Amino acid sequence: MACLFCRIVSGEIPAQVVYRDPEVIAFRDINPQAPVHLLIVPTRHVESISEVGSADAPLLGQTIEVANDLARQEGIAESGYRIVINCGPNAGQTVAHLHFHLLGGRPMSWPPG
Ligand code: 5GP
Ligand code: ZN
Repeated sequence: MACLFCRIVSGEIPAQVVYRDPEVIAFRDINPQAPVHLLIVPTRHVESISEVGSADAPLLGQTIEVANDLARQEGIAESGYRIVINCGPNAGQTVAHLHFHLLGGRPMSWPPG
């Protein structure tokens, strides 16, 4: 199994897991870009958000719900947070397994770099 995040899902590669259910896992980013930087990852291998359609609506809803719950748990719900999905090279996607970044704990600028 080559995919890095599939190997984290299986437990083959360790991670600081903060949430897990059969469909979704969340763990701390190894190179955090904010005081809170979690990755929320569907356990099923999907390469990117470009492959996602209306049939995946339940999974996407569940993923956002997990992100919102974790934002509360991490104490950033009130101060605000950003959920980011990078898709493809120009957006900076480096891991080809769909993941949502949950970032917070500091002010963030817009537009992104
Ligand atoms: P992308 O650039 O694809 O949107 O996000 C990939 C993220 O995965 C990056 O923020 C990177 O720091 C993180 N990452 C890469 N390898 C690992 C790892 O082995 N463990 C963890 N926890 N995060 C990783
Ligand atoms: Zn994968």
